Amino acid sequence: MVQIVHLNGRFMPLEEATIPVLDRGFIFGDGVYEVIPVYSRRPFRLAEHLRRLQNSLDGIGLNNPHTEAEWDILLQQLIAQNEGEDQYLYLHITRGVAKRDHAFPKVVVPTVFLMSSPLLSPPAELKATGVTAITAQDNRWLRCDIKAISLLPNVLLRQQAVAAGTMEAILVRDGFMTEGSASNIFVVQNGTVLAPPKNNLMLPGITYDLILELAAAERIPLRVGPVPEAALRSADEIWLTSSTREVLPITVLDDQPVGAGQPGPLFKRMDTLYQNYKATVMRQAD
Ligand code: PMP
Repeated sequence: MVQIVHLNGRFMPLEEATIPVLDRGFIFGDGVYEVIPVYSRRPFRLAEHLRRLQNSLDGIGLNNPHTEAEWDILLQQLIAQNEGEDQYLYLHITRGVAKRDHAFPKVVVPTVFLMSSPLLSPPAELKATGVTAITAQDNRWLRCDIKAISLLPNVLLRQQAVAAGTMEAILVRDGFMTEGSASNIFVVQNGTVLAPPKNNLMLPGITYDLILELAAAERIPLRVGPVPEAALRSADEIWLTSSTREVLPITVLDDQPVGAGQPGPLFKRMDTLYQNYKATVMRQAD
């Protein structure tokens, strides 16, 4: 399979895509990104992803290189040129190439890189048994709401999880749970879903929003507010969410079983709601 990517206005095989070493993305990690799932060749929640991209760009003072209509066309072209009904799109925008200097260059020509990869939904076994996680101190900066390409803290935290033989690191800052190293986290306590509030300490997940919408529509008790570490440790259920991993149950935290150590009833209900929502959106695409 030849993977076709888009770099600065041109489509090409992945192997042919190269950037100058003075690109500020390479030198400073000066850029932002998005990850958008595609089901049945249709981007899922595209408007929401493009809105978050705009917020990220605003957060780093970089003009959006494309209008929403242009993004729509570019992404459709990218999807059409790659194999598979289900894909995930990676959008990467940097402050372009300039002489190395921390301050913004006077003239900015952003670098725009778009890539599509095959999207595999989480295997049924993972949902049946659940996944494991550790807790870690959230040592990232205070603008975690920006989807910045400078991901070194997230990389180190995720590696900590992998080194411990687990899938995710759940981050705790000043006694409160923020999110995962690459996911949002929900806690269930006594039949209520607890979600941390969207603020500068976490990425506003597109899946996070969908989970809140589905919970509200089904009248599942929900409390959005700071989640103390103690609530995490005494949770009946913990869920991990992201665009590529959908919603997964965490059944072991720091080597201790979460609740009964099995995916809980609310997880199963939410997963069904999520899958039904996805199926409805895919049917609309036909
Ligand atoms: N938080 C972080 C730090 C992430 O990297 C991700 C996944 N990109 C998420 C949350 C989940 O966001 P989304 O549901 O939009 O994939």
